[in-house]
Order: sequence, then structure tokens, then C-alpha cells
Amino acid sequence: MRVKHSIQRQQLRPKMIELVEELSGQDVKNCYQCGKCSAGCPIAADMDTQPNQIMRLLQIGLVDEVLRSRTIWLCASCETCTTRCPREVDLAAIMDALRNLALEEGVRNPERSVTFFNQTFLRLIRRYGRVFEMELIGRYNTGTLDFFKDITKAPKLFVRGRLGLLPNLKGRKTSKPVFKDVEKAKSSRRGKKVDSA
Ligand code: SF4
Ligand code: SF4
Repeated sequence: MRVKHSIQRQQLRPKMIELVEELSGQDVKNCYQCGKCSAGCPIAADMDTQPNQIMRLLQIGLVDEVLRSRTIWLCASCETCTTRCPREVDLAAIMDALRNLALEEGVRNPERSVTFFNQTFLRLIRRYGRVFEMELIGRYNTGTLDFFKDITKAPKLFVRGRLGLLPNLKGRKTSKPVFKDVEKAKSSRRGKKVDSA
């Protein structure tokens, strides 16, 4: 049975699409829906919206549907789609821009453990300059209430020197300016008028 979809004018957010294009450096109109990105994506089977469908939704201006999708959080940034695209669309960069916008717009994330992991990871990089795995595991397991997740792997990782007891602070000097630049870019974006219609 054919299902009819109707699109209301107020659902379309052209300025948000411009923002996605600005953040990712891509032109969403370049996609001609060949589907190669979805065919090669290793996570496609778990996504609620296929990568080429994300592109189509963006082209017609339905950015809210895209920001609410599980797909943008399940994307592993592997860049297979980017490599395969015959139109040289960097879809991985678009996914990244969409995740940033979803966070900035306060969109409810259907994959909250992914956001929690990302935020904890970045907080540790900001604090120490490098990720401190022990703290990351502790915070993630506590925050997701899965206290003993992967606990049996810890002894092996200790023996192989993959888990340290103390954070490595060597990268702190170089990471600080990166976070400052990101904050600056974010506040200049907030200053721009975003079409909320
Ligand atoms: S591979 Fe490129 S052109 Fe083809 S559907 Fe995906 S983004 Fe569009
Ligand atoms: S970057 Fe994301 S969308 Fe592209 S192939 Fe990898 S997981 Fe799929």
C-alpha cells in the first residue's frame, strides 16, 4: 500500500540547512540519491533512517526529523560513505555537524548513552589533555547504571599496560587552545539568527 506523506510549510527550516552546510563544508544539493553510502555503511542495519535518506530529508528541509533520528548518534564516523560517494559528499562531516546541532538545539537524544560517552570523553580530554581510561570507564559505567560492564577485561588491560592508574597530563597545553577555539565558534554561531520556523 502506498503511504502518502504531507509536508507542512512550518516544518521546513532552510536556515538550519544552511547551518548544516556551513558546519560541514558540504552542499546537500550535490547528493543525487544513488544510495551507495547506505549500501556500504556498516551500521545501516541498526539505523532508523538510512544515510541517503538523511541526505534527502536535508534536501527538502526536514531538519527536525533528522535531528531526532537515532542514525546521527549511531554513525561511527568511519567515513566509508564519504569514500564511496560518487558526488564527493562528505556525509561523515554532515553527520558530525548534525550531532553538534542536535546538542545545541537541545533535541532529546534517543541514544543517550552515546551522548553521555561523548561528553564524558571530551570532559576528560579538556581536563587532562588526553583521555584517562580508568576514569572514563568508571564514569560511564556509573552514569549508565551498568556498574560491572567489561570489568573482566580490566586485569588483562592492566598487564598489557593499556590502563594506567594515573592520568597522563602531557597534552594539556595543546588541548586548551582547541577547546577555546571551539567555544568561540559556538558563541559566534549562537549570535547568528537561526530560523526557528
Ligand atoms: S553516496 Fe553520495 S550521492 Fe549517493 S546517496 Fe549517498 S550522499 Fe548521495
Ligand atoms: S560515517 Fe557513519 S554514515 Fe558513514 S558509513 Fe560510517 S557509520 Fe555509516
